[in-house]
Amino acid sequence: PTGDKRNFNSNNNATNQPQRLINADQKRRKIEQQRRSLPIASVEKRLVEEVWKNDTLIIVGETGSGKTTQLPQYLYNGGFCQNGGIIGITQPRRVAAVTVAKRVAEERCVELGQQVGYSIRFEDVTSTSTRIKYMTDGLLLREALLDPKLSRYSVIVVDEAHERTVQTDVLLGLLKDVQKKRSQNSNGASGNYDHVKKDNNAKEKSNEVRKLNPLKLIIMSASLDARGFSEYFGGAKAVHVMGRQFPVDILYTAQPETDCLDAALVTIFQIHMEEGPGDILVFLSGQEEIESIEGLVRENLKKLPEANQKLLIYPLFSSLPSEKQMKVFTPAPVGFRKVILATNIAETSVTIPGVKYVIDPGLVKVRSYSPDSGIESLIVVKTSKAQALQRSGRAGREGPGKCYRLYPESRFEGLDDSTVPEIKRCNLSNVILQLSALGVDDIIGFDFMEKPDRMAVIRSLELLYLLGALTDEKKLSYPIGHQMARLPLEPNDSKALILASQFDCLEEMLIVVSMLSVESIFYVPRDKLEESRTVIKSFSSPEGDHLTLVNVYRASIEFLEKNKTENGNEKAEKNLRKWCKDNFINNRSLKHARDIYNQILENVERMGLKISSCGDDMLPLRRCLAASYFLNAALKQPDGTYRVLANGQIAEIHPTSVLRRSKPECIIFYNLVQTTRNYVRNVTRIDYLWLAELAPQCYALKDN
Ligand code: ADP
Ligand code: MG
Repeated sequence: PTGDKRNFNSNNNATNQPQRLINADQKRRKIEQQRRSLPIASVEKRLVEEVWKNDTLIIVGETGSGKTTQLPQYLYNGGFCQNGGIIGITQPRRVAAVTVAKRVAEERCVELGQQVGYSIRFEDVTSTSTRIKYMTDGLLLREALLDPKLSRYSVIVVDEAHERTVQTDVLLGLLKDVQKKRSQNSNGASGNYDHVKKDNNAKEKSNEVRKLNPLKLIIMSASLDARGFSEYFGGAKAVHVMGRQFPVDILYTAQPETDCLDAALVTIFQIHMEEGPGDILVFLSGQEEIESIEGLVRENLKKLPEANQKLLIYPLFSSLPSEKQMKVFTPAPVGFRKVILATNIAETSVTIPGVKYVIDPGLVKVRSYSPDSGIESLIVVKTSKAQALQRSGRAGREGPGKCYRLYPESRFEGLDDSTVPEIKRCNLSNVILQLSALGVDDIIGFDFMEKPDRMAVIRSLELLYLLGALTDEKKLSYPIGHQMARLPLEPNDSKALILASQFDCLEEMLIVVSMLSVESIFYVPRDKLEESRTVIKSFSSPEGDHLTLVNVYRASIEFLEKNKTENGNEKAEKNLRKWCKDNFINNRSLKHARDIYNQILENVERMGLKISSCGDDMLPLRRCLAASYFLNAALKQPDGTYRVLANGQIAEIHPTSVLRRSKPECIIFYNLVQTTRNYVRNVTRIDYLWLAELAPQCYALKDN
């Protein structure tokens, strides 16, 4: 502490202040210095000028150069919020929206949710005073439903556009249209320097001025090729922000790895034991993988001599609660090393200071849709070259670094140059539903940057039609289509909720949908497989996984409520954590599911759906599942595998399912996962005859 004080002796005002204030001041100055040293800081003035001059601007800059955190602040200071207009910044990922908003609030010394805020599905941290608003691209699309001209926004920044998520692509098309509509409204005066002055003088006419203002649109991308975006926006200007990159040594394995988790684990310890200071960033494909490595690292760490145990583990994935997400940015104490276990989030969306070593198994989990089968699945695929380069680049931000690619060099040469945009490989029914709700009926004719596959569009339209969301004229049906578009869920899930209110099991379906919105409710350490099976059995329903999830949820709520009355809220939450641990339940996921439950409950209440429970008789729930997820029905084959009725695909029941042994004749499943084999996950037993009864639009004709 004496050291700290000495630093501040030069600051006259601060000498008599309490320690806390001195620290706050010190922190502020450090942040200021960090901000000034970012590559983007040297072009602040030029960027603001360019935005005034151009209604659409493309900004390309290396990851970590300061685009996401700084540009919105430059625009704020540059006068773009003068008449109460909001600067909206969209992100493909929730985590990025949350962590960046927190960082920017901190940089500006404001309370999060005031001047700077964020809004993501199921979580809105903004207020009427919010001017810099980070959000997911999907959320802005939903806002467009209520406010088609996005009139509250003066600037929209579409960040991470190189990711080309389906929501980003739809948003780009939509924003182009909004821009057109808003400039038709204005009297032709596009942005230029006069704007600043005009706006200053026109306080009393502010509403009018705002109405006339065109929408400023900024596309930000980490990929150096801006041509595609520029062409799409009629030759829009592109500005390049120079980055700073130190050399990164790329190391490959001699042989292909058979067990990537094991290879990653070995490499983590190899670096930890043999290399100099610097944090390690490991790219993994999802929460499950991250949590299983987290456990393995902890176990192995205990076996090391105490002096070598100074390794701190930080997971980073989208469904992690946000307090935990922020922890990853805390620098490691002196003598300690951090290892960050992250999904693709850390590739370009968030930059964690201190990383010197990157471990890249070369894999990424993506959505995949084949129009033939009409079923979307999650698959783990090889990254593209561009992704591999982005990942290795993360090691060289603050000094020379090393990247360990867990595959042989020959494989790198064979990788695709860049990733196929998601719109080319996902189920489009959600997009179509949203666009229909916005009044766009002709999906094929919509001005996409890259057109989706015709067959995929037709298949997705078909699904919406089968769900009753579209009429014969491909218009949104009333009330079902409209209700479905209003719910922030995939069409199948929305339909399940709407039907559940008729089947008198909406409470249970809400639980199912919430629990399925989070990844892995059960958490099973590798070494406790047998023990966990016995414990988990106490929740399991012979009818399947959906009902098992309902049992877990109900048991946890019952435990929590009882504890609250006995011990108070805080103690109860703590006890629940212990309860989860004892029952091999993932506390994080469960809490997240509870939040989602409450949010969707609010939604369906507002829609006026009848909320009732089927109590202990789960038959209505199973029938309702069959009526909603009828496309995901499968029949047992003589060899014990299952044939998906809709397309003949063959799959097995996932080993984590409670039905993996009993193998009923007919099932419906929630998702299809492809690894080395096809697996169906979250499976429930149904009666084959229900399909014809409850989904005649799909099954009755075929069978007669
Ligand atoms: P870009 O968008 O160009 O990739 P960012 O604006 O995300 O760059 O990041 C700029 C800098 O801010 C990086 O050095 C990053 O480490 C830092 N940064 C971002 N978020 C945080 C945070 N929550 N805590 C500490 N530093 C952060
Ligand atoms: Mg960024």
